[in-house]
Parts: sequence; structure tokens; C-alpha cells
Amino acid sequence: MHSPESPYIGRFAPSPTGPLHIGSLIGALASFLDARAHGGQWLLRMENIDPPREIAGSDERILNTLRRHGLNWDGPALEQSTRSEAYDAALQQLLSSGNAFRCSCSRRQLARFGGIHRGACVASVNEEDCAIRLAVPDEIWEAHDLLQAPLRQNLLQEVGDFTLRRRDGYYAYQLAVVVDDAYQGINHVVRGSDLWVSTPRQRLLQARLALPTPTYLHFPVIVGSDGHKLSKQTFAAAIDDSCACDNLLLALRFLGQDLPPRAQQSSVERILNHAVDHWHRQQLPAVMGLPESAFYD
Ligand code: GLU
Repeated sequence: MHSPESPYIGRFAPSPTGPLHIGSLIGALASFLDARAHGGQWLLRMENIDPPREIAGSDERILNTLRRHGLNWDGPALEQSTRSEAYDAALQQLLSSGNAFRCSCSRRQLARFGGIHRGACVASVNEEDCAIRLAVPDEIWEAHDLLQAPLRQNLLQEVGDFTLRRRDGYYAYQLAVVVDDAYQGINHVVRGSDLWVSTPRQRLLQARLALPTPTYLHFPVIVGSDGHKLSKQTFAAAIDDSCACDNLLLALRFLGQDLPPRAQQSSVERILNHAVDHWHRQQLPAVMGLPESAFYD
């Protein structure tokens, strides 16, 4: 059980770029079960900060799929589209402490450096048309995880001064996720291993903004036959809400969890209650990716 002084607060944070597919349902279920098994809250955040990539109506569709699968979140969902003031305040704090800078370098100009911005700008700054980047130090940042081996990255060499606000004015995922995890009091992040590589960047941003670091658990994502993660962008099949029980059982199998006895497999509530009572993190497959074929018979 989690200590009563710091009650467990977890979350699911979908982007409305399409309906949920089985991979995203696994993410919702894993974070839900880990939170509920620890007596915790499970919050929802709609990561709708990138309108060009969004598909109209998918936010409602995602919420509906979650409800149909009995994955009921606590409190109102937080919409990132309403959080500009908080992101601007964080940017201001980083700019005035010298930890962020305005940059008008184009992708084409950065191509000579492998697309990575390291320290000095190649273009002179045009305030009207600039991105904001984090000034990344030339040092190793480490991330720890309950399932994955520690990840050590020299962020300047491997990633460079990464973008916090794009030239088109939209806020970057790395900024929004760090600001909102802290705002919502999230102390446990359970998400797919495709985001593990972003975690050292989020650690650095948390340090620069003096925000706490949550405990991370990155479970393996499903990879298709091409070795890439199943994603809405690759048109992974949308979840069929009319077979919620089957979908939950499939997701539980993927997560290495014990299934309820047959008699309890016909209702979403019974499946979830059993799953919460029998949730074992140590049964999660401790790899980064599992092929689709490994769990579909
Ligand atoms: N919105 C992200 C996605 O749908 C997840 C962000 C996170 O869990 O940190 O992939």
C-alpha cells in the first residue's frame, strides 16, 4: 500500500488524435489498475494542445470508450487546451532564469547538425517567428523506473536544446506534460515504454521548474510486424466498445495478469474488481516492446 502521507495520484493522458486502439486501452487499464490497487486516485487529462494533429470528435469518443470499459476517472477531465496561462508562466520562468531561449533556426539550417540544436543558434532571432527551446546542459540525465533499467542520456549530445513552444505558437508535449503532472499532483506515471526515452528530458524540465518528479512505470508497448509501436497514426484498429469484456481480458493477458474465473468474465465490473485485487506489477513483462503476435492467438 502507498503511504497515507502521500496518497497515490495517477493519470491517463490520451491525445485526441483518433479513437483508442488496443494499445492505448492497455495503457488506460494499466494506469487505472496500478492506481486502484494502491488505493489511489486516477485522473484523466486530455492532451489537446496540437490541433493540426487532432481528429474532431475523438476526445468524446475516447471518453466514451473508457466509460464503456468501466474505467471511470476521478473528478473532471483536465483539458490541456485550457492551460495556456500555466504554460506561458512556466516559459516566462525559464526565459527569465536563462534556462530557455528564443530561437529562429529552421529545420533546414539544423539539418547540417543532424537536426539537433546544440547551444549556439545558426539564425538570428526574429521575435515574430521563433520557437522557445530549453537550454540543455552538456551532462548526463538519468531516469529511473519500476520496470525498466535506468536510462542515462547526455541530453545535449543526444537530443539537443529541445523545443518547449513551437514556431507556430503551439506548446510542446514535454512542457505541457511536466507542468500538468505537477499541477494535478500526479506522483505515479504509468505509461507505455515509447515515452521512456522522453523521461530524462522531463526530469531536466522538472528540475529547472523546481517541480517534483513522479515515480515512473513504463510497460511494454505492442509493436506491429514492422517493429513500430501500434498507433492511431498507423491506423491501428479502433476499439469495438460492444466487446468491452473481451477487450479487457485481452489487455489483462498482455499485461501478464491473472484472469478472473470464467463465471466472472461476463461483466466489466467483475473483471475490473478481480483485476484490481490481483494486480501484480512483478508480472508485467519487463521488456520495451511485445509483438502483436505474442498475445493474439
Ligand atoms: N498524450 C500522450 C499520448 O497519447 C501520453 C503522454 C504521457 O502519458 O505522458 O501518447
